[in-house]
Amino acid sequence: MAINYSLILYMAFENIQFEGLYEKTLVIVKPDGVQRGLVGEVIRRLELKGLKIVGLKMAQLNPDKLREHYAHLAEKPFYPGLEGFMMKNPVVIMALEGKGAVEAVRLIAGVTNAGKADGGTIRGDLAMGMCNVIHCSDSPENGQIEVKRFFNDGEVFNYDKTEYLHVYMEDERAGLR
Ligand code: ADP
Repeated sequence: MAINYSLILYMAFENIQFEGLYEKTLVIVKPDGVQRGLVGEVIRRLELKGLKIVGLKMAQLNPDKLREHYAHLAEKPFYPGLEGFMMKNPVVIMALEGKGAVEAVRLIAGVTNAGKADGGTIRGDLAMGMCNVIHCSDSPENGQIEVKRFFNDGEVFNYDKTEYLHVYMEDERAGLR
């Protein structure tokens, strides 16, 4: 009996389970990253890791948005400098999705002070100090909040990425692990 491979493939893709893979995180390529031509390098590293881009745009941030975003730092002496730096030039903003996406991106990003970040990380490889190329959410709760803060309805896309079949084991896709 002839085997219908296209039917088997169709059924396999129809049954892709993405439960548990919808955690979202926000990445901002900061003005230093845009000015230094590092947007492509940042996106390359995030895509190679297996993260799914669900939103992407360029924006110029304003004081209100920054004060909300950096509320935990608003009283710090360095805040005015941080605000000025973040507003001065455009940024590129990304919403990314994946299993454990927040932690995965924090690991790829490296610690805050790029001068002390591990080699192999974005900050460790591409920067020297507090001009540290990217922002990334620090918890799944903040990931959700930050994606909503920077993306309007209709700017975040919901689509199946068939690559997931090769990024996660079946039980990981099913949310069992
Ligand atoms: P992260 O960006 O690693 O989540 P924070 O939320 O603590 O770290 O800080 C936000 C940003 O503020 C940092 O990425 C850095 O650009 C800037 N920043 C943090 N601490 C300092 C500092 N002591 N002096 C100057 N800038 C700072």
